[in-house]
Amino acid sequence: MARALTDIDVARAAVLERVSTLPAERVPLPRALGRVLAADVASGEAIPPFDNAAMDGYAIRAADTDEATPQAPVSLRVVDESRAGTPAASEPAPGEAVAISTGAVIPQGCDAIVPIEEAGGGNGTIQVNVPVERGRDIRRAGDDIAAGEGVVAKGTALGPAELGVLASVGLTAAPCARQPRVTVLTTGDELVPPGEDRGPGKIRDANARSVPALAEAAGAEVTRVDHVGDGAIAVRSAVAAILDADVAVVCGGVSVGEHDHVRAALTELGVKEIFWGLALRPGRPTWFGAAPGGALTFGLPGNPVSAMVAFILFVRPALLALAGASPAGQHATARFDVSYEKQPGRAHAVRVRLDVRDDGWHARPTKDQASHILTSMLADALAIIPADRGDVGAGDRVQIEFLSPGRPAPGSA
Ligand code: AMP
Ligand code: MG
Repeated sequence: MARALTDIDVARAAVLERVSTLPAERVPLPRALGRVLAADVASGEAIPPFDNAAMDGYAIRAADTDEATPQAPVSLRVVDESRAGTPAASEPAPGEAVAISTGAVIPQGCDAIVPIEEAGGGNGTIQVNVPVERGRDIRRAGDDIAAGEGVVAKGTALGPAELGVLASVGLTAAPCARQPRVTVLTTGDELVPPGEDRGPGKIRDANARSVPALAEAAGAEVTRVDHVGDGAIAVRSAVAAILDADVAVVCGGVSVGEHDHVRAALTELGVKEIFWGLALRPGRPTWFGAAPGGALTFGLPGNPVSAMVAFILFVRPALLALAGASPAGQHATARFDVSYEKQPGRAHAVRVRLDVRDDGWHARPTKDQASHILTSMLADALAIIPADRGDVGAGDRVQIEFLSPGRPAPGSA
């Protein structure tokens, strides 16, 4: 095994170099949660579209109240009503007022609102006993958004607020990049799905659930999840069957064992190897190539932690970039609360729990960091300790990448 291992930043760049954003489609807003906007969206009109009342009360001409005092209140006759959704039919003359609800159109000629709580009177009149400031309690057209103003930028993952804003400017659908289509194949004679009799020497197929879930959480549509045993011929036809995708992921069988047939199958199927072997722990046997039909093809290590880590570091950025979002993930730095032993050579992806204190994030490794300890992934982030780094001291700052991609998963409406 004297082969040189690829640096993780080089590997990530090699993946992203092969990604171009998928074509856009119109997505109805009720199904657009988590989708990525494919074009800048601007508002065709001002929002609010018209001057309107900020309070329930009376629309008046402020000048009518200039002389008002508690001793000599001004009396205004209420001549009409402006309701939310139904403007007043008439324009009040000087000395007149219009009853108005929050959000209703300010009648022509009026320039202030007297809130209901401050209007005395009765019998079709109101009494005002102080001068009312011009513009009082009026929300202006365009306060929120000017006509023609950009509201949500291309590349934004649509969350509840973005969807609300798009609806507020009148959109029924948004242009979004098509969701990447992902296929997953797990390999191994030893794997049994949960719910079936396990049998001697067998284990549960964890990757068949974690890996598709990672893809969905990154905004992809998982179109197929298959499993195959360790026979060379079976592996080849199973791999062939998942290559019709934007991203095909094979888990397990990519290492150098006698029963690891995935790389041979990929080569025979014409999938061109771009890298195999990363300076990363866990995740060293990770393989990446390009299929003749265009599928970005990943061979992830079978160990459940390694598969998840390699997915997060290499497959997720590809999925985000395919959808037109920033591939960078959510990064920060954190102080390591404990010391961590490490030899220079490979980067380590340490699963950590985080908490935030006055001086920012603090990280602490979750239990045993071996690649078969899947519960070590019950974590908040990966701390990425660079390849050339040795031991990490307690209190040292390290880079962290949050496990959650920081965007809502699509299609959950
Ligand atoms: P492999 O990469 O195929 O050599 O597998 C490495 C280790 O991961 C072995 O201990 C396998 O039993 C285990 N493994 C492989 N695939 C899965 C899977 N889908 N779910 C759980 N463990 C797996
Ligand atoms: Mg295997």
